[in-house]
Amino acid sequence: MDSCMYCVPGEKLANLMAPVAKLRVSTLFLLRDQSFAGRCVLMFEDHCKEVDEVPEGKKLPLMQDLSDAVSAIRAVFSPDKVNYAIFGDEVTHLHVHLVPKQKGGTLWGQAYCAQAVEAVRLSPVAWEERIEAVRLALNTQGGK
Ligand SMILES: [Zn+2]
Repeated sequence: MDSCMYCVPGEKLANLMAPVAKLRVSTLFLLRDQSFAGRCVLMFEDHCKEVDEVPEGKKLPLMQDLSDAVSAIRAVFSPDKVNYAIFGDEVTHLHVHLVPKQKGGTLWGQAYCAQAVEAVRLSPVAWEERIEAVRLALNTQGGK
């Protein structure tokens, strides 16, 4: 889809996130807003709106990608729980928000909502280091 920021990556996407790694059938991104340390998005490679539109042969690899991504996030950030959110009202391209949460921390016990918290942006260097840490953890976990 020409108007989709995931299908046609440009400035809008770059302002929101940066790719960490290409996995089997998806790409993992680290969000610039790190109000939750390690907040990522896992984007499915095809423009599907709903989970049941994912081709049969890609459903399992997508779940494996999700699992690898979460393992990497857990290894780097040690969250008490990762929250998973699939919205897509406006950005319909199938993507999963991965939100590491700490017990007693921001929105603990509540549903994740980006609008509910103040955005936290790291310095460019710290952000790059975080991307590299997740990338390294993905490789270490033996993903793919
Ligand atoms: Zn798309």
